[in-house]
Amino acid sequence: MSDKSELLRFLSQVLPSERIITDTNLTEKYNSDRTKGFSGSAGIVVLPENAEEISLVLSKCNEMNEPVYTRGGGTGVTGAAPPLDMGLVLSMERMNNILEIDTRNLTATVEPNVITGVLQTEVEKLGLFYPPDPASLDECTLGGNVSQNAGGPRAVKYGVTKDYVLGMECVLPDGSFIHSGGKFVKNSTGYNLTQLITGSEGTLCVMTKLFIKLLPKPVMEYDLLIGFSSLESAIDTVAAILFKRVVPSTIEFMEDEAIRLVSSYRGGDIPFADAKAHLIVKLDGRNQDEIEYQLEILKSLPEIDETKMMIARTKEESEQVWQIRRSVRDSLNHFSPVFFAEDCVVPRSEIPSFIKSIKSQLNMYKVNSVLFGHAGDGNVHIDVLKYDMDDAKFKDLKDRIRNMLYNEAISHGGQITGEHGIGYTRREFLERAVGKYEYSLMKQIKHVFDPNNILNRGKLFF
Ligand SMILES: Cc1cc2nc3c(=O)[nH]c(=O)nc-3n(C[C@H](O)[C@H](O)[C@H](O)COP(=O)(O)OP(=O)(O)OC[C@H]3O[C@@H](n4cnc5c(N)ncnc54)[C@H](O)[C@@H]3O)c2cc1C
Repeated sequence: MSDKSELLRFLSQVLPSERIITDTNLTEKYNSDRTKGFSGSAGIVVLPENAEEISLVLSKCNEMNEPVYTRGGGTGVTGAAPPLDMGLVLSMERMNNILEIDTRNLTATVEPNVITGVLQTEVEKLGLFYPPDPASLDECTLGGNVSQNAGGPRAVKYGVTKDYVLGMECVLPDGSFIHSGGKFVKNSTGYNLTQLITGSEGTLCVMTKLFIKLLPKPVMEYDLLIGFSSLESAIDTVAAILFKRVVPSTIEFMEDEAIRLVSSYRGGDIPFADAKAHLIVKLDGRNQDEIEYQLEILKSLPEIDETKMMIARTKEESEQVWQIRRSVRDSLNHFSPVFFAEDCVVPRSEIPSFIKSIKSQLNMYKVNSVLFGHAGDGNVHIDVLKYDMDDAKFKDLKDRIRNMLYNEAISHGGQITGEHGIGYTRREFLERAVGKYEYSLMKQIKHVFDPNNILNRGKLFF
């Protein structure tokens, strides 16, 4: 363990004592995020309130070669934020102000630790809309979302976090400030640093201010639950819907194992319980006529059997539909803890063959799994379950299974993660996933931003 006394002396000169935490009872909560079975060790936790303080802390840590771990809401599931080797945690929790909602430019300017759901609520009060909707939105932050390029069900129509980051202010490890983009939509001025930093998992700089794009809020929504006789026909229907120029905001799928699990959890209280696949489709628009028009197009598709379609036109009915999708997690927790969860992504059309292939291999490993996810954007959630096998044996299998899943995703033209990122737990797979030269280029970029490798040391790269 390095001697922290010089660093602590410096910190006490630039921050009030209540914003420097060293008591291990209090630093403990910063050691982990939501990653199963992974936790780190924080030496010091600091709570900056502005970018200038961050600049001072970073430049001192850089000079001392002290690792710094930036923390948002701590909801990551790949161990990106927790500190390693008693590093310093830069917890952004006090930088959580919405600085401006600009109704003329349709932008929000925010400090990075604004909770995603809070921004959504605030902009909606003004008739505006921030679409990215990770399921953790009541706890995760915009800074964390930008770092991980978080996505959610609305990606099919509205894209993911990267599509809403217009610009940012950041502090580099040596304490200097950089600015990129701003409150404007177009920008062809040099390298796009905003998009380079987006998804960089806190390894390049610390974001201190974000310029976020907003949209006008759709006025109405309908939710549909549709049963299918096979996963293939469900996924073919996604292409058919989009080909008819109807772009739902959300198209989720559940394969038959997920349907059976939810049905048994809810005592059979689930529509089309005998279907082999479900699609949950959200249509949105400016008025009822617009949505009814989209609905008529869907009903006319030969792939859709109208008798297997539940239409939710009211908030209460929508809640019934979404309860079924949300019950996947609840039923998993009820029947069998998830041993590990992956979020591979493949081209939409490849979902059935990807699932078929991994299911047959998972059966060979004699493990059970439940698959569900975002049919509209190809993001398949694979929860591998812990049944009838002792822990030690199952752990041995984990790496082999992950290798298999990742190989299958890549060979189906996809990637190893669509939402959750690399962090700590997937770092040994990054080089293979992106390629040798691409990996080397990424490491060189990291070196240019952070030559002493102080930011999130040990994360992303192996
Ligand atoms: C129940 C649950 C559901 C989830 N659902 C989804 C989902 O639907 N979609 C999805 O994409 N993810 C999902 N996640 C994962 C997680 O919520 C996201 O990755 C989220 O973006 C993390 O945000 P955070 O604020 O918690 O960041 P943290 O976990 O604290 O940190 C994540 C990364 O961001 C970096 N970081 C944070 N703030 C800054 C900053 N200001 N400057 C530089 N780097 C920074 C950290 O160093 C770290 O590398 C889910 C997690 C849970 C527990």
